Amino acid sequence: MSTRALIVEDEQSIQVLLQEILERAEYEVRVSANGRDGLREFFTYRPEVVLLDIGMPQMDGWTLLERIREVSQTPVLFITALATESNKVRGLNAGADDYIVKPFGGREVIARIEAVLRRATKPEAQDTLYQDPALTVDREQHRVFLHGREMELTPTEFKLVSVLTRNAGNVLTQDRLLDLVWGLDGGGSESVRLYISYLRKKLADEGEPDLIQTVRGVGYRYSPPQPASRAM
Ligand code: CA
Repeated sequence: MSTRALIVEDEQSIQVLLQEILERAEYEVRVSANGRDGLREFFTYRPEVVLLDIGMPQMDGWTLLERIREVSQTPVLFITALATESNKVRGLNAGADDYIVKPFGGREVIARIEAVLRRATKPEAQDTLYQDPALTVDREQHRVFLHGREMELTPTEFKLVSVLTRNAGNVLTQDRLLDLVWGLDGGGSESVRLYISYLRKKLADEGEPDLIQTVRGVGYRYSPPQPASRAM
């Protein structure tokens, strides 16, 4: 069964290019040339992933994303020529799952789509346990192990590592982290920076200084280590 993808883009050359890339990767594709048609298509076609342009006539990408997020968590990737940080931050805060910057290559597009689909289809049940070659997060028991050794974390540090690993590979903006970790308890961007640094220090003390990456001007990403490949 091929995955249903919806492309919402007003520029014909980009439409054609994306459609080709996706069809070559055996996606089933539909294309809308503006936000309003895109919204209609979203409800009738029920895509499993949406590629969304920002600047479009009638209804722009921001508005369409808002309308989609009112009813569904279907993965949405922004297609943007403007790789500005404010656009990336705004897109991620608005609930986009990733963004593709023009000009793009076919393999990059497919890799990004597949990454968001993998994250989207992870069953909830598995969500209580996160594991990669370095870290194990047991969300039920509130315990974190680094290379098999239990880490001593404060409740806030635990929440932070839990949220970061739940979105492993994904950039989380400061605002999103504030929302997910501190919620109504408030906190400010200063708290995010501070707790990221605490957590990093604890990971670095055990020989893992690079698990949490700073994406400048955007936020932070938990980047799981690849399985050992020393034989290569
Ligand atoms: Ca456009």
